[in-house]
Amino acid sequence: MEIKSAVFVKGSPTVDGLFDDGLPHIAFMGRSNVGKSSTINAITKTKGLAKVSGDPGATTHINLFLINNKFYIVDLPGYGFVKGSVGKRDVLHGVIESYLRHPHRGEQTVVLIIDAKVGPTADDLDILQTVEEHGKKIVVAVNKIDKLKNSELKNQLEKIQKLVGGHILVPYSAEKKIGLPALLTAFSS
Ligand code: GDP
Repeated sequence: MEIKSAVFVKGSPTVDGLFDDGLPHIAFMGRSNVGKSSTINAITKTKGLAKVSGDPGATTHINLFLINNKFYIVDLPGYGFVKGSVGKRDVLHGVIESYLRHPHRGEQTVVLIIDAKVGPTADDLDILQTVEEHGKKIVVAVNKIDKLKNSELKNQLEKIQKLVGGHILVPYSAEKKIGLPALLTAFSS
């Protein structure tokens, strides 16, 4: 698939503000700073579409981007960063859960982004389990592979695969633009 157009449609603090026009959703999830915005910008080849933030946890809105007039990329708030109020982390988990629970007529796929070097954190595995419980199609996207040597990458991918179970793993680097076609194929097929 080739992305020909990518347009920011709206940002909403809650799922109630989302459209349900029957178009498919590709929902991107990941902990703060994992490179979710960089990934959305890289696959849409649109610099600045999603903000690349120096302040983890800054984006608490759900952002919707219309792609090729055919489906939405849903940018869900990054989780796992606890700053200031103790309750913020629970709020962000809550936003993701309410998105998953929200009735939607179109197909929904979840792209869970994890860090190649760090591997899945307890938060990542927690979110993965929640997504599984909701029966969504899941792609586990392993970003920042440029941080690992080739010899380390193979072992690390095997470790990650064991931890996440049988889901499709897609290793890539948003920054170095490695593996992006495979990521597009994984969530659009
Ligand atoms: P978000 O909080 O998940 O949206 O993450 P951002 O896209 O804002 O990225 C967080 C940081 O990770 C930024 O400093 C990015 O430049 C960096 N980053 C994102 N993708 C990659 C990657 O593939 N490789 C490396 N080395 N750094 C990356």
